[in-house]
Amino acid sequence: MKQRFIDIHTHKSNSDPEVLSLHSFAFGRDDALPAAPFSAGIHPWDAERVDRPTALRFLQDIPADAIGEIGLDYVRAVDRTLQRQVLKAQLLIAQQRKLPVIIHCVKAYQDMLPLLKSLPLRGVVLHGYIGSPQQTQALIEAGFYISFGYTAFRSPKTMESLRLMPSDRLFLETDTALLSIKEVYNMVSQALKLELESLQTIIFNNYKRIFV
Ligand SMILES: [Zn+2]
Repeated sequence: MKQRFIDIHTHKSNSDPEVLSLHSFAFGRDDALPAAPFSAGIHPWDAERVDRPTALRFLQDIPADAIGEIGLDYVRAVDRTLQRQVLKAQLLIAQQRKLPVIIHCVKAYQDMLPLLKSLPLRGVVLHGYIGSPQQTQALIEAGFYISFGYTAFRSPKTMESLRLMPSDRLFLETDTALLSIKEVYNMVSQALKLELESLQTIIFNNYKRIFV
C-alpha cells in the first residue's frame, strides 16, 4: 500500500491521488454511497428523525470501512437517552463486524467513556477534537485515537493537547472545512516542529494499524 496523506474524516469526495480520505456517509442526510474507503452511520443530530431500524439493518452489511460518524452531542436539542441507544446499537455492530469507529462527541464525555470502554472495539477515533490537556490525557490512557482539524488552531488548550499526543494515536482531518488535508498537515507539521514526511509516515502507520 502506497503511503499517502490520510484524511480520516471528511464530507467531501477526494480526487488528489496523494490523498486517501475516509468519506463519511450519514443516513438520512446523504443519498448515494461514496467511493471506498468510507464510513457510515447515524449521526447523533439525526437520532430522532432517521428511520433507525432500516439504517441499522443497512449498517449490518454495508461495505463500509468504519462505522461513523456516530456519537453523542449534548449541545444539540436531541433526546439524550435516544442518542445513547442509537450510539450503543451502532457500537455493537462495529464490534460484531470488527470495524473501527469514528466518534463525534460534544460535552458528553462523562457518558461516552464508560460506553466505549465497555466494548472491545478494533479502533476508536475521536474526530474534530477540541479539549483540554487533562481530558486528552484520560482519552490517551483509555487507548483511543484522536483526530484534529483546523478548528484545533482556534483553541490554545487544544493546541496544548495536540503537542502532548503520542505519535501512535494521532490522526488529521478536514471534516467540512474547505481547506485541503495537505494544508492541515502543513499547519500541524509546523506546530509540532516535525518534518512533513515524518508526520505523513506516523499517520499512515496509524491508518494501517486499525483500518487495513
Ligand atoms: Zn463530520
